[in-house]
Amino acid sequence: MRHTKIVATIGPKSVSPQMISGLFAVGVSVFRLNCSHLSTEALEENIRSIRKVAPEAGILVDIQGPKLRFMGTDISLSTGSTVEMKRHDLGLSQSDESFHMAMNVGERVLFDDGRIQTQIDAVQNDVVILKVVKGGKLARGKGVNFPDTVMTGSVLSVKDRYDIDVARSMGVEIIAVSFVQQPSDVEEVRALAGEGPKIFAKIERPQALQLIEEICAVSDGVMAARGDLGVELPYEQVPSAQRAIALAALKSGTVSICATEMLESMIQSSRPTRAEVSDVTAAVRDGFDAVMLSAETAIGVDPVGAVRAMARICEAAERDVSMPNWFADENPEVAAVTAAAAALAKRINADRILSITNTGYSAGLLAACRPNTAIVAVTPTESAARSLSVCRGVWPLVESRHDDITRAIEEGLQGARDKHLILAGQRIVVCVSRLGPNSDADTIMLHLES
Ligand code: PEP
Repeated sequence: MRHTKIVATIGPKSVSPQMISGLFAVGVSVFRLNCSHLSTEALEENIRSIRKVAPEAGILVDIQGPKLRFMGTDISLSTGSTVEMKRHDLGLSQSDESFHMAMNVGERVLFDDGRIQTQIDAVQNDVVILKVVKGGKLARGKGVNFPDTVMTGSVLSVKDRYDIDVARSMGVEIIAVSFVQQPSDVEEVRALAGEGPKIFAKIERPQALQLIEEICAVSDGVMAARGDLGVELPYEQVPSAQRAIALAALKSGTVSICATEMLESMIQSSRPTRAEVSDVTAAVRDGFDAVMLSAETAIGVDPVGAVRAMARICEAAERDVSMPNWFADENPEVAAVTAAAAALAKRINADRILSITNTGYSAGLLAACRPNTAIVAVTPTESAARSLSVCRGVWPLVESRHDDITRAIEEGLQGARDKHLILAGQRIVVCVSRLGPNSDADTIMLHLES
């Protein structure tokens, strides 16, 4: 039973019902819909289609946020020259612009994923004068990044708000917020999305990295969004940033996803490179809940093959991972009973943890304790089961819940037995939560499956 979950991005190569069901069959737990490439209508259609074909999978809606693109005409920029650009050229004058870039002299402006580097020389009303530090050919539509500039205002555009509304009303499990800078960006989306979806902060700005603990404290999950992060930070700093994100998430019990260019060569190739295998292995060792495929499954030659490769690498990597319980060490009161269940499972080398949970909260606490034992989470609702699908080591199962605790445990065990999630001779730590929403478990029992 693989512990690390796989998130796969749906795109032109994977949007057909056959492909969605094929991807689910080879181990995708969560499908990602990238709003940067979808109209709100297409988003709605894709959610409907995933629900129909893979009703047990989670859905992550990735909100575009203020992703800026060069809107001027194609231009060749030579190193050492200066160039005048209007705010509009820098992608800064959308009619629905809700944020403001307070640009200052000396700050960097990067184009085309950092291939072209400039520095602000002067700002005059609508015009910005840039000194070209590293030149190149700049085509319309290429990305623009302001790594040093603080954005003020909302990270959400009008389209983002429509997309959030669709995600909320269609009951998706996760909304990921792009270009988060501070905790209030996450809170803004939570206020719009309501109680249903989990809100994940994409960490892709240096400003967010500096506030990673505070952002984890208000987010259900964080994503190491290494694409833009690798543009906004010098690339050699990305691995340590990734570890810092994983560690902050582990300490706060926040779910974490490692994303972007994980098996990049598999967009064209049938095999990953050795470096990609090492990269995925590092993410598993860092302790991420999930690893994500982007273009590999959206536009790659063999989306199913990419997921298979990802699953193989994760399984091999997990064999020599043993994680400390950072979460319980940092939060001794929050998960006292679930941490005890996780410790018991580790101590006796149990085969499974059976979590009897209502909302999924206590199963999430167990996962946060990183017991290294597969957690079968029995919950009465499909939505709670789908929400747990992104959590490391959790196998969700839907079973109606009896009020009587002995019956609830018996029925949970039977449900797991029916699905072959527990087997004869296995030692199982049963962990039950009866205390209502958002509370620790209250009961631990040891069961030997005959
Ligand atoms: C990233 O930048 O790594 C990322 C996941 O975001 P997007 O794909 O939306 O650019």
